[in-house]
Amino acid sequence: MKLTCVSRELHPRHAFRISRGQRNEVRNVFVRLAGDGLAGYGEASPNAFYQETWEDVMEKIEAARAFMETLELQTVAGIEAAWAKIWEIVAPSRAALCALDLAMWDWLARRRGVSVTKLMWDRQPQPVTTFCTIGLSSAEELAVKVEEVRTFPRIKIKSDASASLSTVKYVRGRTAAQLAVDANCAWGGADLRALSQELAALHVLFIEQPYPPARDADLAGARSVLPLLADESCVVEEDVPRIGGLFHAFNIKLVKCGGLTPARRMVLRGKVLRQTMMVGCMLESSALIAAGAAVAQRTSYADLDGAWLLADDPFRGWQFAGGVLTPPPGPGLGVEPEAGLF
Ligand SMILES: [Mg+2]
Repeated sequence: MKLTCVSRELHPRHAFRISRGQRNEVRNVFVRLAGDGLAGYGEASPNAFYQETWEDVMEKIEAARAFMETLELQTVAGIEAAWAKIWEIVAPSRAALCALDLAMWDWLARRRGVSVTKLMWDRQPQPVTTFCTIGLSSAEELAVKVEEVRTFPRIKIKSDASASLSTVKYVRGRTAAQLAVDANCAWGGADLRALSQELAALHVLFIEQPYPPARDADLAGARSVLPLLADESCVVEEDVPRIGGLFHAFNIKLVKCGGLTPARRMVLRGKVLRQTMMVGCMLESSALIAAGAAVAQRTSYADLDGAWLLADDPFRGWQFAGGVLTPPPGPGLGVEPEAGLF
């Protein structure tokens, strides 16, 4: 098979505040895997939190080129075997693994003339209701963002070490949406029980990642009255059984775990363990969002607003309207790159 790999800067529509300062762009990596007149697409959104950079991801994908070019894909079991081989080559880059894995699923599904959802779960893709995230914002930015999402069904609000609930109260006062709060590891110094009680009174569904992963064990004594969802504490499939007694739910991000292949196993294991699951994203194009939406067919929640937040999405795929993603008709991931991306 022929492998093409490019990187591209993507820009959010709104200023993207992170704990230290602000980011005005990300640089994602895109792959195209072609064979027998068909092309499959994949993407990585490398994240510094997981020590990934776009340069490293490109280098790792280049290292896997020889293997990818000898690849003959016929079955899902074949993808799983190839995934394990690719990991031996690209470790520790799960982002590189993710990009190549997505391209394999997309290619094989297109080869069969079915959606990736059908290939993964033997069912037809249904629309996905997604959380739309309100990041850390100034008062003026907040007003604009809330106006944009006010009528959407699910809104997630980012918090920081101040653990101030003023944004949550502001949003609650302006929408009937289901709400969740993502503390992004920053509430280590806060009274989680008291915060959870206040948030429960505001009808918040769950709290995402209140403490940093190093403090997972402290969650047992924190006595939150709301369900806790693991994000940074649940990175790879081996984390799923480990977090069971501490969290009630976990977030699956394809670029953290290494693509659709491990995400599928995480969903199956999470179901056995009776965990609630969400599929999340980084700032990423409609290629990765389409893959997330395929996983979200079997999870309770999705947080797949990454492409909607972009000013310059280089793929067409699932249509976003009013906080709901609608599947495209085509086979595979159903995505197509803009002219000139590859
Ligand atoms: Mg999070």
